[in-house]
Order: sequence, then C-alpha cells, then structure tokens
Amino acid sequence: MKTAVFPGTFDPFTLGHESIVRKAIPLFDKIVVAIGINSTKSAHFELNKRVEWINQTFSDAPQVEVGTYEGLTVDFCLEKNAEYILRGLRNPTDYQYESSIAQMNHAMQPGITSVFLVCDPEYAAINSSIVREIFKSGGDISRFLPQTIVLD
Ligand code: ADP
Repeated sequence: MKTAVFPGTFDPFTLGHESIVRKAIPLFDKIVVAIGINSTKSAHFELNKRVEWINQTFSDAPQVEVGTYEGLTVDFCLEKNAEYILRGLRNPTDYQYESSIAQMNHAMQPGITSVFLVCDPEYAAINSSIVREIFKSGGDISRFLPQTIVLD
C-alpha cells in the first residue's frame, strides 16, 4: 500500500492545500493530511476545527484521512507506514525551503521519499499566514478556503 503523509500547519487549510491533495489522490492508495503541533508556536484556528474542516473537505474521498502529530514528520510517517511525504510548491522560495527539509528528512530516514507537486497558478498566492491576517483584520476569507469550510 502506497501511503503519503501531507504535513503542514493548515492554519487554516486553504484551496491551495486542497488542490495538492486532490492532485495526489490518483498517485497514492492513502493520503494522511497531518497537522503538526508546534509546541513553541500556537495556531490561530483550534486544532479540532482544523481536523473537522479537512475531514469535511474530503468526505467524498475515503482514501484521505486526517492525523495530528508532535515531533518529527519522519517519525509520524513511520507510525503510519508511509514511505512518501507530499508537499506543495508555489514558487522558488518554497522550492529552496522544501528541498532543504527534504534532504534533512532523507538524512534521517532514507526510506522516506519527498514528493513535490507544483500548484496551479490560481493558488500560487494563497498563503495560510496571509489568509489568517486577513481574517484577524475582519476580512472575508471564504474565497480562499474549500467550499465545505464555513467559519463561525
Ligand atoms: P507549513 O507550516 O509546514 O509551511 P502549511 O500549512 O503552510 O505548512 O503548508 C503545508 C504544505 O502545503 C507545504 O508544502 C506548502 O508549501 C503547501 N502549500 C501551502 N499553500 C499552498 C498553495 N496555495 N498551493 C499549493 N501548496 C501550498
């Protein structure tokens, strides 16, 4: 069984994230969207809300599940028997950052391969931290989120 972990903070989960997972569905038997919990950096949107939103987004896709983890992504992959880490690339800055992380992950766990999918141009500017700032300033962020996500 080919399993990929798609790790991120997903604070919040955006249309860009959804698009990467949907592109990856035909490539893997199972995709675990993995919300990393960073003990030094607290997220804006509650963890249980983020889990619920991702579950709702993929209610039509039984091969997509949601998990949460603390610690190393590669350790979470071992726990899930996942041999692939899925990441999305928006621009050269993402590429630079992501290639370093992939090389470090490879050094720690050579059996785990990072796979990158390039995002569609309409999602290239969607960035969770900017979406979050718009939300905090009272803006409408619904156009940047999967349709299933309804903020209260
Ligand atoms: P992190 O905190 O690890 O950067 P994010 O939640 O911001 O987590 O992103 C998770 C993954 O999704 C990363 O690989 C990131 O490059 C990718 N990503 C973020 N936004 C988009 C987007 N708009 N289109 C495609 N991929 C994206």
